[in-house]
Amino acid sequence: MEKQEILRWLRTTGEDRLSRLWQMADQARRRHVGQDVHLRGLIEISNHCSRRCGYCGLNVHNSSIGRYRMTDDEIVACAHQASALGYGTVVMQAGEDPGIGKQWMHDLIRRIKRETDLAVTLSLGERPDEELCSWFDAGADRYLLRFETSRRSLYDSIHPPLAGTMSDRIALLRRLKLFGYEIGSGVMIGIPGQTYDDLATDILLFKELDLDMIGVGPFIPHQATPLGRPDQVAYAVPAEQVPNSEEMTYKVIALSRLLCLRANIPSTTALATINSESGRELGLSRGANVVMPNVTPGAYRALYEIYPSKACVDETAADFGSGLVRRIRSMGRTIGRGRGDSPNLSGRK
Ligand code: SAM
Repeated sequence: MEKQEILRWLRTTGEDRLSRLWQMADQARRRHVGQDVHLRGLIEISNHCSRRCGYCGLNVHNSSIGRYRMTDDEIVACAHQASALGYGTVVMQAGEDPGIGKQWMHDLIRRIKRETDLAVTLSLGERPDEELCSWFDAGADRYLLRFETSRRSLYDSIHPPLAGTMSDRIALLRRLKLFGYEIGSGVMIGIPGQTYDDLATDILLFKELDLDMIGVGPFIPHQATPLGRPDQVAYAVPAEQVPNSEEMTYKVIALSRLLCLRANIPSTTALATINSESGRELGLSRGANVVMPNVTPGAYRALYEIYPSKACVDETAADFGSGLVRRIRSMGRTIGRGRGDSPNLSGRK
């Protein structure tokens, strides 16, 4: 698919016309990754963050949230719970937390691999190569790092670098692949200042990077961040500002599927947050094949407030898991067994 065609779909409106896109994406999903929906247990291991991202509620300047870092025993207990619920993967996610040390993480990954059969995905932000290699050696399988937007000037304005460093997530993704990780990335949809052209370029970059996993979700404003208070921060609204809408999110999921046929694509929590009734199911029927149920203990989950009113903050992992499995089966889909590695990987190894 060329950029002009991607742009044409991004600008298309009306359910009658868009239903063609949904159908094409669903067919491609069925043909290339099948009927299985893979479940990943998400553990939000720390909400400490040293970054000043203009969009994220975990940013270091937000003094309105209580900070936590889970202990290794707490994290391993969550991994066992994910395994008992039948999930094949745990995703350990955190703010960019200097309190997560190289050796501590290394030992934790080894322990999870020793005590369970789970695949391990990390989503810990931009970390030194030395740490990333050490964690791969310990057994980590995958790394998720959204590049958020491919336009450098927009990225720099929403994701200021740490003093004395430079932030290049796209280069880091290429290195993660060389280190041996299965790599996942994605963007937020409807970032203030993001144009349709930017978004089409992002989708083409998913393909160029040959991503194994693609996670996209709507930008959800958080009051305790600069981008959540547009009245207080002046930024230029482009003529063709991308809306942070549900429909635009489905378009990007569908187009990602059509360009990256064998990637694993989650129907994200951000989507379920803006449509709690059917967001997750609609994502799954428009190209997605993965869901990431949250297995973080309730008390911590509420504090991992990257954006407000996050879906499923009040449900226990077990209740949510059983409801989710029922809903997936009622769509005629099956629950993936085992690790659910990206089929894209087999083309590379
Ligand atoms: N610190 C790691 C990192 O930066 O990759 C992982 C945690 S970070 C909170 C995970 C993702 O949350 C980010 O990549 C971003 O896309 C998403 N996110 C943060 N704030 C958001 C917001 N206000 N609306 C939607 N998504 C948001």
